[in-house]
Amino acid sequence: MKRFYIETFGCQMNAHDSEKVIGTLVGRGYEQVATPEAAELIMYNTCSIRDKAEQKVFARLQEFKRNHAGKTFAVLGCVAQQEGEKIFEKAPHVSMVVGSASYNRLPELLVQIERGDKRVTGLSLDTEDTFETPLTRRDNPHKAYITIIEGCDKSCAYCVVPFTRGPERSRTLESVLREARELVQMGYTEIQLLGQNVNSFRDAAIPGSESGHDFAYLLRRIGEVPGLRRVRFTTSHPRDFVKDIVDAIDENPVLCNHIHLPVQSGSTTVLSRMQRLYTRDEYLRRLEWMHGAKREIAITSDLIVGFPGETEAEFEETMSLLDYARYESMYIFKYSRRPNTPALQYDDHITEEEKTRRFLILQEKQRAMQIRQNAELLNRVEEVLVEGWNSATSQWIGKTSQNRTLNFVHPHGREANLLGQYAQARVTRTGPSSMGGEAAE
Ligand code: SAM
Ligand code: SF4
Repeated sequence: MKRFYIETFGCQMNAHDSEKVIGTLVGRGYEQVATPEAAELIMYNTCSIRDKAEQKVFARLQEFKRNHAGKTFAVLGCVAQQEGEKIFEKAPHVSMVVGSASYNRLPELLVQIERGDKRVTGLSLDTEDTFETPLTRRDNPHKAYITIIEGCDKSCAYCVVPFTRGPERSRTLESVLREARELVQMGYTEIQLLGQNVNSFRDAAIPGSESGHDFAYLLRRIGEVPGLRRVRFTTSHPRDFVKDIVDAIDENPVLCNHIHLPVQSGSTTVLSRMQRLYTRDEYLRRLEWMHGAKREIAITSDLIVGFPGETEAEFEETMSLLDYARYESMYIFKYSRRPNTPALQYDDHITEEEKTRRFLILQEKQRAMQIRQNAELLNRVEEVLVEGWNSATSQWIGKTSQNRTLNFVHPHGREANLLGQYAQARVTRTGPSSMGGEAAE
């Protein structure tokens, strides 16, 4: 058994975990193939953040329930951790169930699979380790991820992550910087730092550590790595978000002027029931820091509608927060009941119909705001990293430092050979989510 197929669901953390899992397998002589049909080992790296995401993996497994001769199935990630050995009952053709906190044990678990064991698990959350592999398979040739912190020590009332990814574990500053330098040597100019709460990053070796500024310190250091042009990071938690992060961005243009700071709700009472550990006013203060920065910072957010007990007045507070925030874009989610989470026990669950109504209202308001805000960008010249070519529209696909998509035409079209280059483009057309433009000198 040497050929494997992997499908990844969910967030960027999962996408990057898969890159490391692939590296581990390739390092052991496995070959990655593009279809489950061509593979002997089929792996699903799963997400359980909402019920829908969780159902996807069981739908996939169902496809092979009757016809799986000669194939080994592995469920990795959040559903693996959450459901554990119950997966073997639901899908008896699965042989391997491994949560992300056990990925360091993958080589040893693969040996068990190779010798024919039918039930192999890695489900302990009792770890202080982070998953560092000598080999990582990176699929994006222009942008590389670096995980700086794993797990989560918060306990938001709706969220499964603390149960599926275990306690917070930071990597050391030195190992993060080493990886950044290696990536530059490999030709990368843009990196994205990943973690559930990147600003909870801690390294006792950092001068003045524990003052809450370790992440800003890391940003400053990584921003000085020669050869790096762009550093992004996600996700920031408002509770641990200090002004020093904004100051660091102001000081160094290598640090991208985009901050994803999920608010979840604009109402202090809902935030309190959510156990988010900040108030509306505290969040507004963070918005002020970002709006007051010397560089123009694009702010994006996540929002949950229909959290148990959310009244119409509380929902209105979220609506009004959007006017202050002027989000560049946002992900809106309908509250989904998750196993083990405190909110499951709350009274006053909101009907699906009402959640949909609130979702659509918010979506429409945000869309209208994006149309207005983006129109202000007309005629601006932006630096973009060119990530692709769209042959249907004969446009290059660029990303600005603020993470906006700017598709642009070039007098030499495809011949301009811009892939992976930084280019200047003038905005000539704007819409709700992307912009069109032309190459500029
Ligand atoms: N750690 C990040 C934070 O605290 O903002 C993000 C974690 S989660 C992977 C991404 C988003 O999923 C959250 O910001 C939240 O909006 C959403 N989410 C998490 N649990 C949810 C649930 N039970 N129902 C609906 N949305 C949920
Ligand atoms: Fe989930 Fe809250 Fe942790 Fe984010 S901070 S991962 S929403 S528990």
